[in-house]
Amino acid sequence: SVRVRFCPSPTGNPHVGLVRTALFNWAFARHHQGTLVFRIEDTDAARDSEESYNQLLDSMRWLGFDWDEGPEIGGPHAPYRQSQRMDLYKDVAQKLLDAGHAYRCYCSQEELDTRREAARAAGKPSGYDGHCRDLSAAQVEEYRAQGREPIVRFRMPDEAITFTDLVRGEITYLPENVPDYGIVRANGAPLYTLVNPVDDALMEITHVLRGEDLLSSTPRQIALYKALIELGVAKEIPAFGHLPYVMGEGNKKLSKRDPQSSLNLYRERGFLPEGLLNYLSLLGWSLSADQDIFTIEEMVAAFDVNDVQPNPARFDLKKCEAINADHIRLLEVKDFTERCRPWLKAPVAPWAPEDFDEAKWQAIAPHAQTRLKVLSEITDNVDFLFLPEPVFDEASWTKAMKEGSDALLTTAREKLDAADWTSPEALKEAVLAAGEAHGLKLGKAQAPVRVAVTGRTVGLPLFESLEVLGKEKALARIDAALA
Ligand code: GLU
Repeated sequence: SVRVRFCPSPTGNPHVGLVRTALFNWAFARHHQGTLVFRIEDTDAARDSEESYNQLLDSMRWLGFDWDEGPEIGGPHAPYRQSQRMDLYKDVAQKLLDAGHAYRCYCSQEELDTRREAARAAGKPSGYDGHCRDLSAAQVEEYRAQGREPIVRFRMPDEAITFTDLVRGEITYLPENVPDYGIVRANGAPLYTLVNPVDDALMEITHVLRGEDLLSSTPRQIALYKALIELGVAKEIPAFGHLPYVMGEGNKKLSKRDPQSSLNLYRERGFLPEGLLNYLSLLGWSLSADQDIFTIEEMVAAFDVNDVQPNPARFDLKKCEAINADHIRLLEVKDFTERCRPWLKAPVAPWAPEDFDEAKWQAIAPHAQTRLKVLSEITDNVDFLFLPEPVFDEASWTKAMKEGSDALLTTAREKLDAADWTSPEALKEAVLAAGEAHGLKLGKAQAPVRVAVTGRTVGLPLFESLEVLGKEKALARIDAALA
């Protein structure tokens, strides 16, 4: 059965690339009714933090992912934090050394650098040159006597490595391009190069789906796997699939440090998890040529990693927002009104009163639902209902209040005063009639009314807004604008 893993390192805030990787693994597992293993790769004490770890878990929950084995829930291969598995790695490293698949390397950094430079200058491959592969006992003795602290290096076989990537097809690496590599630091700390494949082996992972940046580590891991199989540590080499790069502004790789890539930003702006996941699924995959909007269930039902496209995917914020807007429309109204709550409370909404007028909110919510791209936009869109007076924005006033606006507003006030305030349609007729009296189309006629009542030039549908605000307040605001 299918066993996949999501194995981030808890360094810094979760970013969208990470979420895309989690999503594809999760969808793949669910599609095949397989197992998703969530593993924390926290062997880099200098960069990992408990805060990042907690954020990671919180983000995964917020996105709606669940996992079958991992932190908080445990499982047959516990623990799922690499920092708690150090003895296992030590044991495997020793086995690799004993069997000759790894060796101690005494080269100092300076020596490595010097030789690399020389190789480069001579136009030769500049990776590790195998200097310590077959040291004599006497040489080892001498290095020890000099006080050198060795690292452990994996001995790559002298043969080409070919594998069929699930996304990009057959790939071959020649031995000169994949030199022996370090697996344990001089201080005894095991490296990603060891712990990641060892855990994949021990946790019986069948498919490794991850970012393209890790493609070049695959031949090393396959060679290591072969050694682990020989040692009885691994059963089978997993299949590998490398997800395309995500490109940001200016067609540059979207980096973790790019503010646009921070998941927290999307949460704060009020993206729905379902909208964000829908968009992120399109970074390398598609449901069909003519359907951009779909639910996570539809994605799971259709997801096949073989359909992932190898060419880089472009992160397009506008499209991400448009898709999110569609998901906002798809919510039940009740769900929508609840999900907006955080943006209707102080301190996010500084105007939010203690005795928040729930009836007004319920009345305006359906009209807001059709307008928002992200939930945070609700804050400014409804403040006119809750503030004693509309916000004052100079630019909006200058834009809407032209010559003749006073005359228009005076007529509009008269017509509105006589209108039926239980019908937005009637309010529209009133403003339309006022416009006609001054030779203005509806759009031009409603602009000064909108600014007088809401303080802004753009916002929710005006006549529904007037109805919810109520006749008395609305007319008082028009009076204030005329004063
Ligand atoms: N911890 C690694 C990372 O965050 C996982 C890489 C992999 O999927 O093999 O990049």
